[in-house]
Amino acid sequence: MIDKWWSERPSIKLSELNPISHGIEGRLGRSPDAVPRILLLGGTGEAAELAAQLASRNDLEFISSFAGRVSCPKYPIGAVRVGGFGGIEGLISYLIMESISVVIDATHPFSVGISRNSEVACARLGLPLIALVRPAWQKQKNDLWHEVITYADAAEFVNRKKGRVFLSIGRQEVGSFAACNDAWFLIRAIEAPTGQLPRHHEILLQRGPFDLKEESQLLRDYSIDHIVSKNSGGSGTYTKIEAARLLGTPVVMVQRPTKHTASAVETVDQVVTELTALLTRTVQDGKQRKEAR
Ligand code: NAP
Repeated sequence: MIDKWWSERPSIKLSELNPISHGIEGRLGRSPDAVPRILLLGGTGEAAELAAQLASRNDLEFISSFAGRVSCPKYPIGAVRVGGFGGIEGLISYLIMESISVVIDATHPFSVGISRNSEVACARLGLPLIALVRPAWQKQKNDLWHEVITYADAAEFVNRKKGRVFLSIGRQEVGSFAACNDAWFLIRAIEAPTGQLPRHHEILLQRGPFDLKEESQLLRDYSIDHIVSKNSGGSGTYTKIEAARLLGTPVVMVQRPTKHTASAVETVDQVVTELTALLTRTVQDGKQRKEAR
């Protein structure tokens, strides 16, 4: 992905990584030789892990960005900003005003809006974008998965089954289940859902991670017949899937949307490798250009 950006901009100085901000760096009080600034779009464990790694480097600066969805967030180490940018145009303005050189999109696999916006904004400014999407969970032996494309499909399925449902999809999409009058729902989220809720439900406000014993006990205590889950991937919420496997509980698994048109990497280490290669190459190009003068 980075190669694509570089093939379009073959020889470039560090301070020219962002061609638009270069012209205003002086006005913004930044030296042309200042270290590159990275925007890290976060909200995931991987983004926090990346922040921890980047914080120890002196060849770059970074700012972690959050949507501001939860009222008591756990912010990572380093500089943080909170709140939407105001669509593509707002993001472009932010990238310019903050002299951002590289964007790392480490948002959740189901966060399509911010990923599409960052792709468009970076393309317009000619900025490199490193996209991190952790691998999806794969169905294992003894998993009883019913895979669906949309939340509406999941709602229709569990309502038809009329059982007791553990709804573990966060709070934003709970409204898709509002018309399910024939099933009972245990809705688990970090904060209470605000929209319309299904008629029969109980809300459980909890923040993970949860261990396997806790998850198995929860499924037993509430006599759960079906779990509804997003295929989020990662280890943070996987224990409910393992618990379902052990207890033979069916899982209605919402498949992932497509986040990026360009390819993405799957691990924090791969992001660091790509970023380091990008910055090293930039420094070398800068040196060659200086020598050629
Ligand atoms: P989304 O649907 O892709 O984004 C909706 C809007 O929220 C974006 O257009 C943007 O507003 C703002 N936004 C999203 N992520 C942002 C970020 N990191 N920094 C600044 N603004 C951001 O996003 P979402 O699915 O609601 O997720 C919001 C945040 O929660 C993300 O950071 C994501 O990593 C985290 N998260 C999401 C889930 C999930 O299941 N969706 C789970 C865990 C964590 P503007 O257009 O105004 O810029």
